[in-house]
Amino acid sequence: MPEEKDSDRMEKIVSLCKRRGFIFQSSEIYGGINGFWDYGPYGVALKRAVEQAWWREMVEQRDDVEGIDSTVICHPSVWKASGHLDKFGDLMTDCRDCKARHRVDQMEDKSVCPACGSKNLTAPREFNLMMKTYVGPVSDEDHVAYLRAETCQSIFLNFNLVRISTRRSLPFGIAQIGKAFRNEINPRNFTFRSREFSQMEMEFFCAEEDSMKWFEYWKNERIRYYRDVVGFAENEIKIHEHEALAHYARAALDIEFKFPFGWGELEGIHHRGTWDMGRHQEFSGESQEYFDQTAGKKFLPTVVETSVGVDRTVLAIICRAYDEDKAETKKEGMEEDTRLVMRIKPRFAPVQVAVLPLAKKIAEPAEKIYRDVKKLFRSEFDLTGSIGKRYRRQDEIGTPFCVTFDFQSIEDGAVTVRDRDRMTQDRIPAANLNQYLTEKVHA
Ligand code: ATP
Repeated sequence: MPEEKDSDRMEKIVSLCKRRGFIFQSSEIYGGINGFWDYGPYGVALKRAVEQAWWREMVEQRDDVEGIDSTVICHPSVWKASGHLDKFGDLMTDCRDCKARHRVDQMEDKSVCPACGSKNLTAPREFNLMMKTYVGPVSDEDHVAYLRAETCQSIFLNFNLVRISTRRSLPFGIAQIGKAFRNEINPRNFTFRSREFSQMEMEFFCAEEDSMKWFEYWKNERIRYYRDVVGFAENEIKIHEHEALAHYARAALDIEFKFPFGWGELEGIHHRGTWDMGRHQEFSGESQEYFDQTAGKKFLPTVVETSVGVDRTVLAIICRAYDEDKAETKKEGMEEDTRLVMRIKPRFAPVQVAVLPLAKKIAEPAEKIYRDVKKLFRSEFDLTGSIGKRYRRQDEIGTPFCVTFDFQSIEDGAVTVRDRDRMTQDRIPAANLNQYLTEKVHA
C-alpha cells in the first residue's frame, strides 16, 4: 500500500478536529481570521488537562517553584527594556505578482517567491511582531500599550514581590500559564504558528556559578516530563541545540516534536544570563539585586528558562493520537473495518469514561452509574444511536474507556468496560467500577 502523504494526514487531523469539536477556526461565519483558533468542547478539555499536568509537575509537586498569574498588558516600558520594541521582528517581503507575504529567513532562495516562483519581490522590510493597542479613552501615541509577546517578562517584574512575600532565597523558580500575542507574518501549520497562543513558562533564578548545573537539570527534567508524563516516544522528540547564542546566554536548546509537517519546536530551554533582570533594573531604576546572606554578597540573579507552547503541546498530542485502525470492528456493529481512533493518553483524554446503556429502557440505572463515575472522571452519558455508532464516536474523541450497561447488568449488578486500545471487554461489578477505572486512568 502506498505510504500516506504527511499533508493528507494533516488534512484529516484538521478535519477531525472540526467535526468532533476539538478546534475551530476563529470567527468562521465571517470567513475566519488568519492565525486565530478556538477550542471546542473536547479541545478545551484536552487543553486544560495539558495545563493542569504542567502546573502540577512544575509548581504543585515541587518545593522550589511558585506560581503567578499576571496581566496581558504591562507598562509599555517593559517592552522597551526587554528589547521587543526595538528588535523583536522578522524581515518580510511581498510578492508583487501573487501578493503572498513571506518571512525572508524561511525562504530557500531569497530572490524567488516560494508561492508562485516570481522574482518580482519587494525589498525586505523590518516587521515588529508586537501587537499594539491603546489604554484609556484617547488613541494617541501617549496611550499606546502592547499585548505581551511572551509571558515571562511579568515574572521578571514580580521577582522581588514573589521572593519577599514567600520568604524565598535563591535558587527558586516562578511559573505562569497565559496568553501571548505575536503578529506572525505567516501563521501556518494549523495551530502551530498562531497569532494568539498560550505559553507555560518557568523562570528559575539562581547564582551565576550554579546556572549551567541548573540548565542541565531542567533539560533532563523536561525530557523526562515529555517521556513519562505526556507519553511521547524516544523517536518523537529530539533536542536541537542553538548554534548562535544571544550575547548574554551561555546555552540554549529547543525540544522538538515530529509533527506530520516536520520537526517543530515545542519548548525552548534558555540560559538568559542576567540580561532581563539587568535591563529592568536599568529601565525602572529599581534595584533587582539579590543579597545572599551566606555568601555575604549582592548580585543580579541569573535566569534559566523553560518555555512551552500550550497549543503546540495540544497539537502534538492530537497528531500522535490520530490513528486509522484496520482491525475488525464488525462485531461492534460497524459497517466498515477501518476504525478512526484518537489514542490519547487517559490522563489527557477530553472524555475519560463514557457510560452507554444498551437500551433507553435501562437508562435510569445506567445514569446512576454515570453520576458516580463523573465524580472522579471527565465523563459522558450517551443514549443515542446503535452501540457501534456510539463506540465509534467515543473512539474519535479519544475516550479510553466505555462502560456498557446491558439487561444482564440489572440482574448481576455488573457492567462491561471496553478498552479503546486493547479492544478488550472486562466484566466488572458496578460497585468496583471507580476503583477499576482509577487504576486504569492513572496507570
Ligand atoms: P519559533 O521559532 O517557532 O517562532 P520561538 O523560538 O520564537 O518559536 P519562543 O519565543 O522561544 O519561540 O517561545 C516559546 C514557546 O512558545 C515556543 O517553543 C512555542 O511552543 C510557543 N510559541 C512561540 N510562538 C508561537 C506561535 N506563533 N504560535 C504558537 N506557539 C508559539
